[in-house]
Amino acid sequence: MKITIDKQKCIGCGNCWALCDKFFEVGDDNKSSLKGSSNGYEMEIEEVDCAQEAVDTCPVQCIKLSH
Ligand code: SF4
Repeated sequence: MKITIDKQKCIGCGNCWALCDKFFEVGDDNKSSLKGSSNGYEMEIEEVDCAQEAVDTCPVQCIKLSH
């Protein structure tokens, strides 16, 4: 499974890293960044875990989960 953040759309509200610091953190651009990802916006994960909550609460729907 893959998580993707649309950096153009992210408004840096902080919901995702507040809810799910396993995968998300604030990046140098004050927007969401994926922990352990080489580019910050795309990463493979084993378990969805709290990422689903982050997707559900992102106010601009810029986090995607795909297979
Ligand atoms: S919840 Fe969405 S808009 Fe807010 S920081 Fe995370 S990715 Fe960006």
